[in-house]
Amino acid sequence: MNQPTQTTASTCCYCGVGCGVLIEHDGETIRGVQGDPDHPANYGRLCSKGSTLHLTGDLAARALYPELRLGKGLARARTDWDGALDHAAAVFAETIREHGPDSVAFYISGQLLTEDYYAFNKLARALVGTNNIDSNSRLCMSSAVVGYKRSLGADAPPCSYEDIEQSDCLLIAGSNMAYAHPVLFRRLEAAKASRPEMKIIVVDPRRTDTCELADLHLAILPGTDVALLHGILHILLWEGWIDRAFIDAHTEGFDALKKLVHAYTPAAVADICGISVDSLQSCAELIGKAPSFLSLWCMGLNQSSAGSAKNSALINLHLATGQIGRVGAGPFSLTGQPNAMGGRETGSLSNLLPGHREAGNAAHRAEVAGYWGVDGLPEQPGLSAIELFEAVRVGKIKALWIACTNPAQSMPDQTRIHEALSTCPFVVVQEAFFTTETCRYADLLLPAATWGEKEGSVTNSERRISHVRRAVPAPAEARPDWAIVCDFARRLEPQLRPGLPSLFDFSNPAALFEEYKQLTAGRDLDLSGISHALLDDLGPQQWPFPAGATRGTPRLYGDGVFPTPSGRAQFVADPYRAAQEQREARYPLTLNTGRLRDQWHGMSRTGTAAQLFGHVEEAALSLHPDELQRRRLASGDLVKLRSRRGSLILPVQADEAIRPGQAFLPMHWGDRFLKGLGTNVLTLPAFDPLSKQPELKHAGVEVDKVELP
Ligand code: SF4
Repeated sequence: MNQPTQTTASTCCYCGVGCGVLIEHDGETIRGVQGDPDHPANYGRLCSKGSTLHLTGDLAARALYPELRLGKGLARARTDWDGALDHAAAVFAETIREHGPDSVAFYISGQLLTEDYYAFNKLARALVGTNNIDSNSRLCMSSAVVGYKRSLGADAPPCSYEDIEQSDCLLIAGSNMAYAHPVLFRRLEAAKASRPEMKIIVVDPRRTDTCELADLHLAILPGTDVALLHGILHILLWEGWIDRAFIDAHTEGFDALKKLVHAYTPAAVADICGISVDSLQSCAELIGKAPSFLSLWCMGLNQSSAGSAKNSALINLHLATGQIGRVGAGPFSLTGQPNAMGGRETGSLSNLLPGHREAGNAAHRAEVAGYWGVDGLPEQPGLSAIELFEAVRVGKIKALWIACTNPAQSMPDQTRIHEALSTCPFVVVQEAFFTTETCRYADLLLPAATWGEKEGSVTNSERRISHVRRAVPAPAEARPDWAIVCDFARRLEPQLRPGLPSLFDFSNPAALFEEYKQLTAGRDLDLSGISHALLDDLGPQQWPFPAGATRGTPRLYGDGVFPTPSGRAQFVADPYRAAQEQREARYPLTLNTGRLRDQWHGMSRTGTAAQLFGHVEEAALSLHPDELQRRRLASGDLVKLRSRRGSLILPVQADEAIRPGQAFLPMHWGDRFLKGLGTNVLTLPAFDPLSKQPELKHAGVEVDKVELP
């Protein structure tokens, strides 16, 4: 084997911590990965996933050549890029001519780089003329987007990773950081070891590994977070542990919230949440008396039909105590994917536009249209992920382009997604790994470059933009995502904008970034001072970073001014609503889904490395021992796990980390690993009315023993 002769600094492609990596390679093949000691996200640390990145480039799993099939049921055959993209442009143009621009849609991914996102957005909104572009970040962070915007006026996490280390009291809600954001968790562990007086509260129905670090674990009943948070505020008010001066000077809406939380007495909340009054009181006291208080949250709050309310209820605690805008304080959402933040910034949810603008705002549309040099942008609201696939299923969307994501595995109510994909007249899948469930439905498969093979930028959870660098060429005919999009767009333009200059005259990702960043100038996220070259000179930087700045911005709202019309933050008074699907006689268990330590999403990449199966080898359903006993089951027995939507057959295991009445199954397992479609065959398509984020963590289920012949 050739020894690595070169090192290229880049960024890990898994989670939103955004760790810096040093890719060791010989110019052709990646040989190893080290943590980048100079990257401010990880200072050299890597987790089990990041440190094995070089083992996941298995060519046997890679899409290498464009493949096209000319009819459903036929096999795809290899074609060339010209033939592939000409065909796609012809089908899209004809569909748009016959059925209008909203008969096509794009479903993209938080794995894409910022430049890829921007190109897709321009393609959908400026060239095609549809807002039907949504991202799998809808499944991940859209409730946090709504939470920040409603409460603080802009979608901007106000904290930095160093605040986590410097805080006196942390509330970790709905996040198993130890598995989902491991390097950040290691930083927290180190901080707690050096400052044992730091208090950590974990709110999670399961006793996860994150709880090992907790001074207090509140194992609330699934979905009762809003009641808990209102109950905490009730006690803060009762005890006088609020910052009245901050509330008066910097917020609005407190009286309405105060009236609402009056009813959330400790006894009532303890009953709703299934915890003791004492533990609730202790939690409020830790928060109320802390010199600095920071909260961290992730999918446990976001993936819920009350996700927006949960986010706002948590931010309310910070506004009521004045715990925002200073060292060690603030509401800090953790992003799941490596560039979910970049998607939010470039407007890659159907309701957004680049630069934290709204597609539903006429002035915002006019600004972006003017900058792009087009007559206008579409007014018709775009479809969010669940709505989009339903529109595909019922035949309203006739051409669908999916990039870098696996909805056939990751979307809830999987059976309907498979139905949608199998009946859609034309499905394009742009993907690095042909092994995903979604690729089976591709009429046109476009091989994409992936980590280590492409250039661009990503933003991590603390608003830090890193330069992602290419170390080796993509294999065979795989191409970078931005290049595929621009090449397709240039072929579509003569049919949709004949005789006009191209909107997609980009020769590299840096050129895309240069155009995109001007759309952020003067906005809350202003990153117009950043370029790929500047990132090379100064290293990763946090926005805002306006033109002329010399360093990024580690913390927001230190001046108490918020980007709302009044300049004041808003208390949001949403009442507690229970999860949509409650336990009942036929489905007496609540299924919670979550992550394993060593796997990532649908396992298209991590599933190629044997080492990453060392921690958990195969899918198993976790149940409390009492539930096993009640059903006369033993660990290792095969069970049929069923919900109102579908069923799976898999082994069961005893797990005292969850309470009776609950069940847990990792979200990673697809039909390559399970008998049945995958974890999401069980989950329901309910979603939050504001964020449209699906309720992936609360499904009613039951298990039956499978008797072996
Ligand atoms: Fe990659 Fe996240 Fe692990 Fe860092 S913590 S190495 S970004 S998976």
